[in-house]
Amino acid sequence: MENRFPMVDLKGQYRNIKDEVDAAIQDVIDNTAFINGKQVRQFAEALSAYQGGCRVIPCANGTDALQIALMALGLRPGDEVIVPAFTYVASAEVIGLLGLTPVMVDVDPASFNVTVEHLRPALSDRTKAIIPVHLFGQSCDMAPIMDFAREYGLYVIEDNAQALGAEYTFPDGRKARTGTVGTIGCTSFFPSKNLGCYGDGGAIFTKDDALAERLQMIANHGQKVKYHHSVIGCNSRLDTIQAAILAVKLKHLDDYCRARNEAGRYYTQRLKAFDPQEQYLVTPAESPFSTHTYHQYTLRIRNGRRDALKAFLAERGIPSMVYYPLPLQEQEAFRHITRAASSLEVSRDCAYSVLSLPVHTEITRAVQDEVIAAVEAFFG
Ligand SMILES: *Cc1c(COP(=O)(O)O)cnc(C)c1O
Repeated sequence: MENRFPMVDLKGQYRNIKDEVDAAIQDVIDNTAFINGKQVRQFAEALSAYQGGCRVIPCANGTDALQIALMALGLRPGDEVIVPAFTYVASAEVIGLLGLTPVMVDVDPASFNVTVEHLRPALSDRTKAIIPVHLFGQSCDMAPIMDFAREYGLYVIEDNAQALGAEYTFPDGRKARTGTVGTIGCTSFFPSKNLGCYGDGGAIFTKDDALAERLQMIANHGQKVKYHHSVIGCNSRLDTIQAAILAVKLKHLDDYCRARNEAGRYYTQRLKAFDPQEQYLVTPAESPFSTHTYHQYTLRIRNGRRDALKAFLAERGIPSMVYYPLPLQEQEAFRHITRAASSLEVSRDCAYSVLSLPVHTEITRAVQDEVIAAVEAFFG
């Protein structure tokens, strides 16, 4: 059966801000400054304020953001970068692309995120950086990770593509936006992300001014002065039209995150009541040190029944997705370039048991009730 409602409702979201977005796009077209128009700088400034005043370097997409981050740190081929095995490919792809060695570590099955305990055994004398991924919308426990990085002189690049808008609380009570805690933070404005544009886009965060200059230079052909190239860089820009759209949507980001959080909590409350012993499924845990933006609402389905549940939902016109069906250590592209720091069993188990339910900024209780009823019918 065709899906009766969407996994992500970008049309419904647009409808609610249409006048503002249309005017912003028209303004760019009227001025024809399609590349590096004033809206790019204005959006970067607004996002900087949102992120508590860090430097913001806009770029073409989230994968570029990660690549430029690694390029700026002066790593050499053979240097090792620690990355979780259960993540979107981009987090690790850029490591391989630059001739660095991805060292894969497992994740905590409750939060799907790496902890410092996972990182420790991965350390070698070639380790130079860590890429903690704030998967599915909540922060890794960054304070112990930063202590560990300081102890061993490692860079920390936060992959914040899924958690923009989340807030991390340090043990002393201090709060920070995800993406502003590590050496560098990276995010994506892919349409379905927490803050999505109408095409591709990304940004890089840092609090280090010298590093910000270097990141900016690399994103712009390695030049500070036009036609004078001091390092090998790339061409990675955020379009002016996308920046104009993002400036409008940034004002709604907190509301969007709140809507996702309420929807996520509702699923958990209902599904926990249905299956209190976790016989059939495990609901996603909220980490005490982070807010959760529920970029995805991801269950672990017990007893190998994930694919059967997915098919059962599809027959009833209910979409669901598997993020991600293979752990990185089982991806052909990574088999020969990777060092595994452990058995990576949890990552494998997650890949074969996870199922993400529809969650987005416009979702209604009626739709959620229908999803929940279908999940219950499958197990009931
Ligand atoms: C989306 C995503 C990226 C890459 O972003 P793009 O803009 O698609 O290049 C990187 N890491 C994670 C975890 C993501 O979800």
